[in-house]
Amino acid sequence: MALFGTNGIRGIPNENYYPDFYLHLSITIGNIIKNGKFAVASDGRKTVAVLKGAVLSGLTATGHDVVDLGTLPVSGLQYYCKVNSVPGIMITASHNPPEYNGIKVIGSDGLEASPELQAMIEKQYFEARYNEVGSNASGNQSYASWEHVGSVKYDYSAKDTYIEAVLSKVDVESIREKRLSALVDCSNGATYETAPRLLRELGIRTVALNSTLDSMFPGHNPEPTEENIKSTIEIVKNLGVDFALVHDSDGDRAVFISPEGKYLDGNYTMAIITMSRLKKGDAAVTPANTSDIFINTAKKIGVKVYITKVGPPLVSRKAIEVKARLAGEETGGIIYSEHQYGRDGAMTAALFAEAVAKYGLKSMLRSLPDLYYKRSKVNTTKGFEEIKRLVLEQKHTKADFTDGVKIYLNSTDWVMLRPSGTEPIIRIYVQASSKKMGEALIRKYGELLA
Ligand code: MG
Repeated sequence: MALFGTNGIRGIPNENYYPDFYLHLSITIGNIIKNGKFAVASDGRKTVAVLKGAVLSGLTATGHDVVDLGTLPVSGLQYYCKVNSVPGIMITASHNPPEYNGIKVIGSDGLEASPELQAMIEKQYFEARYNEVGSNASGNQSYASWEHVGSVKYDYSAKDTYIEAVLSKVDVESIREKRLSALVDCSNGATYETAPRLLRELGIRTVALNSTLDSMFPGHNPEPTEENIKSTIEIVKNLGVDFALVHDSDGDRAVFISPEGKYLDGNYTMAIITMSRLKKGDAAVTPANTSDIFINTAKKIGVKVYITKVGPPLVSRKAIEVKARLAGEETGGIIYSEHQYGRDGAMTAALFAEAVAKYGLKSMLRSLPDLYYKRSKVNTTKGFEEIKRLVLEQKHTKADFTDGVKIYLNSTDWVMLRPSGTEPIIRIYVQASSKKMGEALIRKYGELLA
């Protein structure tokens, strides 16, 4: 059984995973990553204490001192880990609904655990034997003797150094001069303090929405899809701000909204940052489901674009390999490597604001390819081999198997299908020359899989 999905271990506490699971998992992690020190942070989910108690116990019992950074975006934890060369554990289920929780393991380089490290943790977790009450044996995990167990210290200053680091990467003065206005929707998650503060430090008149930490996510589902944030889009249309942005619960994603209410996913954000920041000869990394809104914009400038399978850890590792300046996904998880090789919603927000200050959002959007892009999902009992066969039976000009199956219908329209890494569903992505065509494709492939 695999514990790690595309991005961490997630489930419903006391339903899928019990406290002893998180404890044994943390003992395993403490046995494998022998650093002596760990950093821990979380978002504001109801079950944070259940997981954090177990994580602190497992890590200190295996001899690690722990710095508890409190509520912090995962990108802030990753930055702390990178700068201080300590591994970390983030307690969050990212954009999943409130009943979920989970952990992300961060290496001392600030990156999410590699597939190799994840496999090692899973193997040792399942092979380990744990103590029975009254037994003196320590199973096959090692523990620190009582005088060598770790301590827990609290440090709530990580958010200050994190915001300063983000600000240091953009031209703050030129953004301030423009006296922009924005709305930021924190989805009641870990960015509730840092996101409004960052914008205000940039001199942006800021309206903050869903900016209290709330375990029930009363504003909306914390995954910033167009459907989930409809109420925010309506507010933006009537507000007259220069732009709006929405983070997911742990703050590694940011999506944007134009003053007219157009939803701008990661395809747009990457294109906009590319126009403002990238130069000929730079490298960029993105997975196979990304649209030409970004890819064509990058190629036009002379940026070399590398395509990977879908999955944040794969994207960030490829970005390191090719020394990419920018990397990211349509979901809004974007990496700016001068800052760090982890996806960072705050860095994305600052770069977007800088681009708006430099060129104006309207003129940048006008210069982008006019393409419709949509992500959807289908529940199906069909196996992926069968799905692949059905897809390849459809008329197409080219097929690509970088991740799942992708067929091109002509020079602009394509459909890509892949099994989800986190749920038992098939994801469908389409790019089309018109909304009508794109919606027809989503319908057609949904019916094909039913
Ligand atoms: Mg996230």
